[in-house]
Amino acid sequence: MTHPTINTSDTTPAAVVVNPTDAAALTRVTPAKGGCRFCGTPLRHSVVDLGMSPLCENFLTAEQLNEPEAFYPLHAYVCDQCYLVQVEEYVHGKEIFGGEYAYFSSYSDSWLEHACKYVEMITLRLGLTEDHFVVELASNDGYLLKNFVARGIPCLGVEPADNVAAEAVKKGVPTTVRYFGVNTANELIAAGPQADLMIANNVLAHVPDLNDFVAGMRIVLAPTGVLTVEFPHLVCLIEGNQFDTIYQEHYCYYSLITLEKVFAAHGLTIFDVDELTTHGGSLRIYVRHTPHQALPVSDAVTNIRQRELDGGYDRMDTYRAFAEQVAETKRGLLDFLIRAKREGKRVAGYGAPGKGNTLLNYCGVREDFLDYVVDRNPYKHHKFLPGTHIPVFPPEKLAETKPDYILILPWNLRQEISQQLEYTREWGAQLVVPIPELTVF
Ligand SMILES: [Zn+2]
Repeated sequence: MTHPTINTSDTTPAAVVVNPTDAAALTRVTPAKGGCRFCGTPLRHSVVDLGMSPLCENFLTAEQLNEPEAFYPLHAYVCDQCYLVQVEEYVHGKEIFGGEYAYFSSYSDSWLEHACKYVEMITLRLGLTEDHFVVELASNDGYLLKNFVARGIPCLGVEPADNVAAEAVKKGVPTTVRYFGVNTANELIAAGPQADLMIANNVLAHVPDLNDFVAGMRIVLAPTGVLTVEFPHLVCLIEGNQFDTIYQEHYCYYSLITLEKVFAAHGLTIFDVDELTTHGGSLRIYVRHTPHQALPVSDAVTNIRQRELDGGYDRMDTYRAFAEQVAETKRGLLDFLIRAKREGKRVAGYGAPGKGNTLLNYCGVREDFLDYVVDRNPYKHHKFLPGTHIPVFPPEKLAETKPDYILILPWNLRQEISQQLEYTREWGAQLVVPIPELTVF
């Protein structure tokens, strides 16, 4: 019987990349498997390697804790041609978003208010009436379109997850359950009018086939129509140290300079942009067909583009510096938790968002550091966080157990949540946010 031998020359060596700004520093970079999602260039530049992570919306039942759980590499790269920051796709989008999806937009008060204000603004700006047609991609539970329904403006939501789409239909929001791309776009315009307004909020990050998605938008958008797209701004991610917004379900992270290239390749032009505070700092871009020049490109576009260029978002060293920032945040959070636990404090988490799971998995925080988390979404109650297996309870659990510290995981909702948690001050609880740097207040 022969023993299997390992031929070391057969194993693929990890590429060793010499940092040109510091020739002494050797960085091990495993090259990405695929090319850039937009331009196809091989991905050679690491932004940050967050190790192995499970799908962050896969909340587990008690029975599932006894089963194996899939972990995937969570490693962000940047393309040196178009500067698109991206993670590799290990799981098909249909596995992530199809069928059951735990995220209901309507569970966040501030997000509902944001949607309501947007509809008011855009209806006025574009002069929308019952003669126009609005299409929203990834319309979730109808949290936004219900505002158009209330105004009598015809609309249609396109949403891949049937459980959240069913909620939209209950609210009276016409919704079709499907993935969006060129095929769906052609079906939509065969069955109805083109869109005078198209909306895509916080979906572009989740799109596995970026070019197919944007090509589909171009098909559905009427010749004089306007498309608005909201997405977390890459500049805020890097400057605000928001590494926990990187997860398997977020394939891409956008700067304006990159999205201008993407839309231009599909005959679309970004003509205006708003800066928003949502999701830790987002952009809302206004897009039109390139030939529709009645809508001129605003100074806001020129200004943000210039700010990105001044900030070095077209240079690899800007991206390379991010990894150390991330490691320092991990050390800061662990320092705090180790100290709190040694002092016998009880620590609970508030909110179980996707970003919380990236943070907890990367930092190795389990029940040894965080007793439990609470969330308002009943879908997550009495389940367990993916990877870390920390139990999730309804918010009432806080009053029952009176923890000393409450770690706010959706730090982007810090204000809203600290107001909701005002009552915990009665027993002297202190609130903690981990990002951009650990703060106890
Ligand atoms: Zn690229």
